[in-house]
Amino acid sequence: MKRPWKDVSVPLRDGMVHWPGDPECRIQRVNRMEDGAVCNLTHITMSAHTGTHMDAPRHFIADGKTMEQMPLEAVIGRCCVFELDSEDQITADDLKKLRIATGQRVLFKTRNSTRSWAMSEFDKDFISIRADAAQYLVDLKVMTVGVDYLSIGGYGKDVVETHQIMLGAGIWVIEGLNLAEIASGYYDMISLPIKLEGADGAPCRVVLR
Ligand SMILES: [Zn+2]
Repeated sequence: MKRPWKDVSVPLRDGMVHWPGDPECRIQRVNRMEDGAVCNLTHITMSAHTGTHMDAPRHFIADGKTMEQMPLEAVIGRCCVFELDSEDQITADDLKKLRIATGQRVLFKTRNSTRSWAMSEFDKDFISIRADAAQYLVDLKVMTVGVDYLSIGGYGKDVVETHQIMLGAGIWVIEGLNLAEIASGYYDMISLPIKLEGADGAPCRVVLR
């Protein structure tokens, strides 16, 4: 029996939550058929890091790779979802218990999937990857890391350091997943960011099976 694909991306909506200080997400219909226009047409303005999106190394590394240079291998293939019950940040000790194989694509499911995405405001207390855990993932040479809220690093914590460590090592990062419906285990993953030339990030659609 073929298992169905599950969409683990969040819907992009006008006015949706975003990283504090980043541009608002604006999605507005500028041509309306109900007003006599020949077609409907939507105008969007937002940061490249809105909703479910990827970070390219260029986000924190001045000469790092940009979105269109991403190898498709980083985002298409087998991945492992690990569920963590962390109440604060994910630490290297937390990750050591998981026995993550080297070179993998890994996604971390935390309480963010149910708690943070249910909030109407940005959740400053979302579960993030502490810098020592970021270094552990680099040492494991993981290819791709996905998290279930808007940043790998914590707000007001080590957001810069965690990004520098992981993006500096060339890890491709998926942020803003919602893994509420996903159990731990192995999945086929397709995560396709739009091909924004020269960009430090790009919105993407992510599905698991
Ligand atoms: Zn980002």
